[in-house]
Amino acid sequence: MQMLIQETSQEKASFSDRMRDKSHRSVFWAHCLRRAFDLGQNEMVNFMELLLSPAWKVLNKWFETDVLKATLATDAVIGTTGSVHTPGSGYVLLHHVMGETDGAQGIWSYVEGGMGAVSSAIGNAAREAGAQIVTNAEVSRLMVDEYGRAKGVQLADGSEVHSSIVLSNATPYRTFMELVPADVLPDGFLRSVKYADYSSGSTKINLAVDRLPSFQSCKLSYPHAGPQHRGTIHIGSESMEEIDSACQDAVNGVPSRRPVIEMTIPSVLDKTIAPPGKHVINLFIQYTPYKPSDGSWMDPVYRKSFADRCFSLIDEYCPGFSSSVIDYDMLTPPDLEREIGLTGGNLFHGAMGLDSLFLMRPVKGWSNYRTPVQGLYLCGSGAHPGGGVMGAPGRNAAQIVLQDVKRSSSFEQEDGVIKFENMAQKVSRILGRRTREALGTMYSIEIN
Ligand SMILES: Cc1cc2nc3c(=O)[nH]c(=O)nc-3n(C[C@H](O)[C@H](O)[C@H](O)COP(=O)(O)OP(=O)(O)OC[C@H]3O[C@@H](n4cnc5c(N)ncnc54)[C@H](O)[C@@H]3O)c2cc1C
Repeated sequence: MQMLIQETSQEKASFSDRMRDKSHRSVFWAHCLRRAFDLGQNEMVNFMELLLSPAWKVLNKWFETDVLKATLATDAVIGTTGSVHTPGSGYVLLHHVMGETDGAQGIWSYVEGGMGAVSSAIGNAAREAGAQIVTNAEVSRLMVDEYGRAKGVQLADGSEVHSSIVLSNATPYRTFMELVPADVLPDGFLRSVKYADYSSGSTKINLAVDRLPSFQSCKLSYPHAGPQHRGTIHIGSESMEEIDSACQDAVNGVPSRRPVIEMTIPSVLDKTIAPPGKHVINLFIQYTPYKPSDGSWMDPVYRKSFADRCFSLIDEYCPGFSSSVIDYDMLTPPDLEREIGLTGGNLFHGAMGLDSLFLMRPVKGWSNYRTPVQGLYLCGSGAHPGGGVMGAPGRNAAQIVLQDVKRSSSFEQEDGVIKFENMAQKVSRILGRRTREALGTMYSIEIN
């Protein structure tokens, strides 16, 4: 998988690019074939089975205990509207467990100060290398010249930023349907972007509580936080059938009656985010349709009743949990769309289905970060290899930009290449050194 994730150039962009990329692609596919041969038929078939099968089948094959299977199955449906029976959910499971922390495979980490610390670390490294970063500046449109090439962006306040290279990590829908002038994009491309799957059934609730939850199944007694508070805590679904029935509610248009809940309590690891004695709890919840048929996420009463349903479910496992809640913030799919620009509320900038991975991400024919607009690149989760805090789409896109800039022949651009490359090398050097310092402490989270 590592090889596929880091691969950048599988597509052609123009005739000359195609010629130049030909040998690279030949090497890549030859490498793929060699790896496939190395795996041998059995391993290869196992790999294909994992990619194509529903998680239900994969997990039933490997495990016996319902509660263990349900715990693992959550990662196969997270961020999707699918169930454990959806073909390809095995890949979603793999996508969520193939990461690593400090070389340890399958371990999730929590970053001190919250996930924003990752962006800050990268931002600080870039600033140190000479980059200028502007935040809280909404882009209202991409500017193109008379040949349809990118020439910069216009901000919502009317100001313009000029550049012949623009990278967008907004969703493909937002980038191409809302920011790029419609008349510069081919119809077929626009249709593919428009009809990609941006659906999502995930809601996030962030809570402040005045005490740690006390799990009735766990008799460990620690004066403060115990190991039961330090991992990912799965609430509600004790079998894959229960996850499936939570999904069926959403298929029928209503939020799950017994939602699938993943709880983490970052404040037991990170003392910087809550005052002494108080805690921060994150709930990742499924399934919540974007437009429920029995009410509206705009209605405060409807919102509260769903949050209360989640808290009552937690009460079943941790009596008294509801009464520990000081306040909370709830982000349903329309909230995620409005506040973070996630089309449809989809965490991954588009579903990670088998029909939208690798050569088909974001759409068929445009998986190499280039776009039909010369100078505009896609560098976020909507591009290969998809969502998650892993940085791979950005890294891959940056490499493509460097290649393209190097290929331009004018003196001005060559000068630009040198500056750009120097800065890229500098950022990467500083990042290696600074990330560990700036990220402070990274904590491993294991499944409870
Ligand atoms: C609730 C939730 C929980 C998650 N949990 C995890 C997790 O535990 N682990 C994990 O690895 N991943 C998690 N993810 C996924 C992860 O956050 C994303 O995959 C990752 O942030 C994607 O990074 P990105 O740079 O591609 O896009 P984003 O982080 O989505 O960044 C895109 C940015 O573009 C901005 N933008 C959009 N339009 C414009 C515009 N017109 N002008 C200016 N800016 C604009 C947006 O505001 C946003 O800041 C979660 C996502 C969500 C929503």
